[in-house]
Amino acid sequence: MVTTTMREEMTWYECETCGLLFDVEEDAREHERNCDEEDPPYIQ
Ligand SMILES: [Zn+2]
Repeated sequence: MVTTTMREEMTWYECETCGLLFDVEEDAREHERNCDEEDPPYIQ
């Protein structure tokens, strides 16, 4: 799920699965769709 977070007076969209931050909500949602399908390689 994508959550919003305020940082340096900007709203960021965070992928809850891996913690990546995006400044465009659409990018975050698209990433999340891919992120859910397979585990990020660096989290193992
Ligand atoms: Zn992710």
